[in-house]
Amino acid sequence: MIYLGVCGWPVAHSRSPQMHNAALAAAGLADWRYLRLPLPPGLFAETVRALPAAGFRGVNVTIPHKEAALALADSASPAALAIGAANTLTFESDGAILADNTDAPGLLEALRDQRIDARGRSALVLGAGGAARAAVWALVGAGAQVEVWNRTPARAAALARDLGARHAAVPGAAEIVVNATSLGLDHNIDLFKAIPLKADTFGSGSCVIDMVYGSGETRFLAAARSRGARVIDGLEILLTQGVASFERWTGKMAPRMAMREAITTSPSP
Ligand code: NAP
Repeated sequence: MIYLGVCGWPVAHSRSPQMHNAALAAAGLADWRYLRLPLPPGLFAETVRALPAAGFRGVNVTIPHKEAALALADSASPAALAIGAANTLTFESDGAILADNTDAPGLLEALRDQRIDARGRSALVLGAGGAARAAVWALVGAGAQVEVWNRTPARAAALARDLGARHAAVPGAAEIVVNATSLGLDHNIDLFKAIPLKADTFGSGSCVIDMVYGSGETRFLAAARSRGARVIDGLEILLTQGVASFERWTGKMAPRMAMREAITTSPSP
């Protein structure tokens, strides 16, 4: 048996197991399995280093391990190095651990699927954690003019400085808007109080992406849609980053239809 998995804490809660197990079955990889690996931070590095000997070929990494994953790897892709976080580890046959960040190419692919070219467009990224860093790196690299807003302004300023974006003290209007804060599904939080969004932040010409996903549309996307914006759900990013991880680990083309069906029909994480 060959194993893959997702490491997180306190729970490795994502739809990745459903998505990847459906992909493995559809690709005819009958002796591969993708498992949930809830790992406390104190055990993360030691456990991951032991995984290749236990039959693992690679893992996805989620909150709070993305920086630790990059730190323990023997080598890293330019994306993971620039972003400062890895969401995909691949275990080579010689024992080397390679780190990559597939959230960034996943976001660009989701835009391409909507026929949106980021070059020359204004973009606003909300947040300054790992997902925001991946979004800013991807959009700057694709030629967008990127502004970053975050609840804690100093983090946004540092991120903007590191990755060639501008810090926005107040989020303004943009053609591409990405929610990379963890605010999303909690209907008890008033989005427009938690984030000082202006009425014109989402216009009918904007494309709005929410990195957050759950069951049903997030409040963020519902607000954008009601103002006439085009929207991209966090499940789309989950799919496109999952496709990239699957292809790195297996060397096979990912069966997108099976993966999409698995994430849209599986229960909320
Ligand atoms: P993170 O590193 O914990 O960052 C969380 C961000 O949210 C920070 O910028 C934080 O601001 C902000 N935030 C939290 N609570 C807030 C509030 N009440 N009001 C305003 N801002 C608030 O998390 P992450 O790894 O970047 O992930 C962010 C979200 O993206 C998560 O929901 C994650 O599941 C999702 N994600 C999805 C995908 C996908 O495939 N779709 C991929 C990656 C991430 P402060 O700096 O002020 O604390």
